[in-house]
Amino acid sequence: LRMGVFQSLFCNQVTFPAMVHTSVDLAKKRGHAGTAKLVNAVLKRAPESLEMVELPERESNPIDYLSVRYSAPRWLVESWNDDFGAEHCGEICRASCSQAPYSARTNTQSVTREELLGQLKKAGHETEPHPDVAEAFIFSPGPVPFNSHAFREGRFFVQDPSSMLAPHLLEPGPNEVLLDLCAAPGGKSTHLAQLTQARATIVASDVNASRLNLVNENAERLGLGGIHPVAAHGEHPPFRTETFDRVLVDAPCTGLGTLRRHPDIKLRIRREDPKRLAQVQEALLRSGVQLCKNGGLIVYAVCTFTEEETDRVVRAVLGDGDLEFEDGPECLSKWKIGPGQYRILPQEGGMDGYFLTRLRKAS
Ligand code: SAM
Repeated sequence: LRMGVFQSLFCNQVTFPAMVHTSVDLAKKRGHAGTAKLVNAVLKRAPESLEMVELPERESNPIDYLSVRYSAPRWLVESWNDDFGAEHCGEICRASCSQAPYSARTNTQSVTREELLGQLKKAGHETEPHPDVAEAFIFSPGPVPFNSHAFREGRFFVQDPSSMLAPHLLEPGPNEVLLDLCAAPGGKSTHLAQLTQARATIVASDVNASRLNLVNENAERLGLGGIHPVAAHGEHPPFRTETFDRVLVDAPCTGLGTLRRHPDIKLRIRREDPKRLAQVQEALLRSGVQLCKNGGLIVYAVCTFTEEETDRVVRAVLGDGDLEFEDGPECLSKWKIGPGQYRILPQEGGMDGYFLTRLRKAS
């Protein structure tokens, strides 16, 4: 029903009768004759009944209004309202429903951003350099040129600019030994390789062995060496403690900062998910801290911005002692919310929502 209603309201490649027919067919396969009848009846009326939807009154009932207007679970709107206040909550809801442009990271190991954008232009692809992130650029609306020579030659990696901030916050040096504890599909591991001119040793570890193959594929296409994939559970890693100079913990999360790209998250997420994931995040961050050498650096990053998965996780681990917040490089100051802490809300500058923290382990 959801797919059918969406098609009937927003897609014009398929004619209306063909769309109803396909949806009814699907309903027959998944349900029974009654399900098919219901789908037929609802879809036939969908276009005109949109006009009849009455939104809850915004002034007297802002949470219900935002929840219906922006198709977000009520509890989620309520929690954004509690955490960020009414004004920001409305902006987050609106931004989370906007259409995200395609963006990418220049592989600065093989080409400069200026050269690459020139090459793409010659091949007929319009782009804009990102104003705040050095390697990032935005494609004009349309499909990403995955068939282009530049893509095949590994000159760019499709990624949101927010995802490019964690490797900068880690500030890796060449000849260091780095750990990316949740590495697949390798967006940040390959970026770390770029930033170290492929001269660091990067252990790219992830619990999902099949996703880990993508790390190899991406590193190969980008022509970046020094990345060593290891299939491992981050909470029980097969490494000695205090092994790594710097550790990145890009933890699994609700992904609420990426709703523009993954609107299905709103349909799948449950009220208890942020809390459940926070426990995993805390355990992974603790593990990252143990694996880091004394005096080394740890960056914790998540593509969400709920209190539970961000500040609370970091404070719980800080409570163990031997860690302190440390500010990152100047290029991140735009997003600084406190010492060593950075946050992008989805309504700010057209980037995915993100949270990052840099911690220094006592020497
Ligand atoms: N850093 C990656 C990048 O930039 O391409 C994205 C990482 S994604 C946000 C989170 C990753 O954590 C997923 O690939 C998932 O398989 C992995 N993961 C989930 N639970 C894990 C665990 N217990 N140990 C290690 N990795 C885990």
